[in-house]
Amino acid sequence: MVGDSDTIAAIATGPGAGGVGIIRLSGPRAFSVAHRLTGVQAKDRQAHFVSILDQQNEVLDQGLLIQFPGPQSFTGEDVAELHCHGGPVILRTVLRECLSCGARQAAPGEFSQRAFLNNKIDLVQAEAIADLISSSTEAAARSASRSLSGAFSTQVDALLEQLIRLRVFIEAAIDFPEEEIDFIADSDVLERLETLQDSIDRLLAGARRGRTLRDGLKLVIAGAPNAGKSSLLNQLAEQDTAIVTDIPGTTRDLLREHIQIGGLPLHIVDTAGLRHSGDAIEQEGIRRARAEMQTADHILLVIDNNNDQRDLSSTEIVAVYEGDLPKTVPLTLIRNKCDLSKTPASLNSGAFTEVHLSALNGEGIDLLRQHLLAAAGLSHQETSDFSARERHVLALEDCAQHLAQGLTQLKEHGAAELIAEDLRYAQDSLGSITGSFSSDDLLGEIFGSFCIGK
Ligand code: GDP
Repeated sequence: MVGDSDTIAAIATGPGAGGVGIIRLSGPRAFSVAHRLTGVQAKDRQAHFVSILDQQNEVLDQGLLIQFPGPQSFTGEDVAELHCHGGPVILRTVLRECLSCGARQAAPGEFSQRAFLNNKIDLVQAEAIADLISSSTEAAARSASRSLSGAFSTQVDALLEQLIRLRVFIEAAIDFPEEEIDFIADSDVLERLETLQDSIDRLLAGARRGRTLRDGLKLVIAGAPNAGKSSLLNQLAEQDTAIVTDIPGTTRDLLREHIQIGGLPLHIVDTAGLRHSGDAIEQEGIRRARAEMQTADHILLVIDNNNDQRDLSSTEIVAVYEGDLPKTVPLTLIRNKCDLSKTPASLNSGAFTEVHLSALNGEGIDLLRQHLLAAAGLSHQETSDFSARERHVLALEDCAQHLAQGLTQLKEHGAAELIAEDLRYAQDSLGSITGSFSSDDLLGEIFGSFCIGK
């Protein structure tokens, strides 16, 4: 166990009234506090029906007491749970009794933090607990659950081990030149580095999918007034969020809607029509539209496909809006009002993917949904999907970058010291994901696997 921790207590169940509410205690005095409140010496991991008493021995509630002795508990410490009736007042009263018996109110996330410090879970798993609780779609919940079970951490740890072995090998060659290990010529360092790089790239792709499942995508709908942007928002949201009229310039401010399609959370922003306008309010709306597009993950550029633009290619249409559109954000062209032109809904790929659809009657909306899922890399949900966060993606990108640098060093200069340094940075990045390795671990690895201390 880490440190001489005090005993913490908190209401573990959500706010509001419910059938059952749980007070959780963790720390060296967890059992004695529970005993003071119930008068029961509970057996390990058995549910006891108890009366919960205040200091005057008056019954506050009746419920269950379960004790989990450390280290086989969630936090690794002694944990006691009092299952009371789930009213906010009774829970607060029982919690206050716990605090007056010597426990202290737990800080947010402190139970999970203790579990991490006591090596019961790693950082990814601690984060997965929070993600599981706050997940907005079933797919996000399932992937968070897989991360909690170790689906992501196991892969990180396996790659970390390979990376450390490689680094150990190279550092041994530097530290013990008398061994005459010509590690470049006589070994498969290059091959091992390339294999590692491939594995990191695969894990990075998985982490990006996991991040998308957790955070979703920001989708901005843009285009000329009256093209059908608000109608498209309403179709995607399957409700009338935006006002639809044939008066150009109706949507002057941004409209936001949060929906999900096939497990992908979408944060949709409907913007003011892009056109030159003397109206100050409309101009401000257009300025905001441009700003939103800068931070979008994907843009839907909507046109009315029954006017002059019908004969332009997607590249030519995008060029018309060149001054408004950011260059780096993926864009899909929506050729709207296919019901008027009596053309069937379709999806065509090209310089930009084009979807012919009708935002009025919904024809082709499913094609757009499928396309958005595919663009997010989620067209078919994998049972191996795990949840990930921006932090993990950045760390993996950092790791990949240092590995690539190491490879360049190796191919161009064969400079062992420089490769070792790149691998150390790569290891730090990878290790920061689970928070599991420190430099002491590396030393242990060196002496353990090479038996160098001869
Ligand atoms: P916005 O200004 O781009 O947001 O456009 P709206 O969604 O407000 O639509 C402008 C007008 O076009 C309204 O009268 C809509 O009913 C009409 N409209 C939008 N989409 C379609 C479509 O697919 N087919 C037809 N026939 N009319 C549409």
